[in-house]
Amino acid sequence: AAKNAGKGTARVFTPEMETRMQMRASLEGMLREAFAQRRDLFVFYQPIIDLKTGNVVSREALLRWYNPVQGWISPADFIPVAEETGLIYELDEFVLATACAEAATWEDEVTVAVNVSAASLGLNRLPTAIGRALAEGGLPAARLNVEVTETALMQGGAEALRDLEAIRAMGVAICLDDFGTGFSSLAHLRSFPFDKIKIDGSFVRDGDKRADCDAIVSALAQLGLTLGVDTVAEGVETAQQYQRIKAEGCTQAQGFLFGRPLPGDTDVTRVGELVAAHKSGAGQASP
Ligand code: C2E
Ligand code: MG
Ligand code: MG
Ligand code: MG
Repeated sequence: AAKNAGKGTARVFTPEMETRMQMRASLEGMLREAFAQRRDLFVFYQPIIDLKTGNVVSREALLRWYNPVQGWISPADFIPVAEETGLIYELDEFVLATACAEAATWEDEVTVAVNVSAASLGLNRLPTAIGRALAEGGLPAARLNVEVTETALMQGGAEALRDLEAIRAMGVAICLDDFGTGFSSLAHLRSFPFDKIKIDGSFVRDGDKRADCDAIVSALAQLGLTLGVDTVAEGVETAQQYQRIKAEGCTQAQGFLFGRPLPGDTDVTRVGELVAAHKSGAGQASP
């Protein structure tokens, strides 16, 4: 398209950029179709452990997408597309409704944590959607946690704050996700209501080799202690990491060491079929 750009004008689109945009557009189309038919989108759950007792205290709901052509596509790839195209709000609502209904059937009655995108916050719609998901799913508000990234809070401004306060007033706890990866000042953060801090997995993993990451985990655990909120260490994969985050004072942990994200009861058969089908296909990794 930019091939006819005149002399002295920078070429806006390189062929590589065009290819990337086409891939995005096709990804968007496939995602819209999957969502419209409520097909190939699944909510998986990963346990969160209390470090004092070793018990599961919560499960995080994580969206999964199986594409018949490409196999399992990571949320890291399709969430940004959904955010750019405005589909994210409906996806977040779908996960909320599914997770609330499914968690209501859990025998251990632990909480379920649902991620909410920055783009879904501050529209004055989320508190209503959460109220509906809780009522229709039959889940008490105290059993739902909403995870919001630190960056989302910082960018969301007064509208995001209003939504969060309304959600919290319903009795739903707010978790600060990926904590430590943004650049927010603690003074600013304090004006937002939150009940839990999730320390980003990168600090937990890099603590093996880097003393500064270890020091950050330790400082954030202390911050949680001072504020009187739980601190969850994300991405714990090894026994060594587990020992360290425990010694540093984190109160909860999540990671492959304790359990991978798995489908809920209603999807487990269908997901099993897809994983099996895919093994004989392109040979890509399962979710
Ligand atoms: P997140 O909320 O920080 O979720 C934790 C991510 O860490 C998940 O990746 C999980 O599978 C992964 N993880 C857990 N334990 C380990 C471990 O021990 N090692 C490693 N390497 N990774 C671990 P996932 O499921 O790929 O999701 C990526 C991100 O996509 C999430 O990060 C979240 O920001 C977003 N996301 C996922 N589901 C949803 C959703 O329903 N709505 C929205 N808005 N975002 C979502
Ligand atoms: Mg999360
Ligand atoms: Mg996280
Ligand atoms: Mg993340």
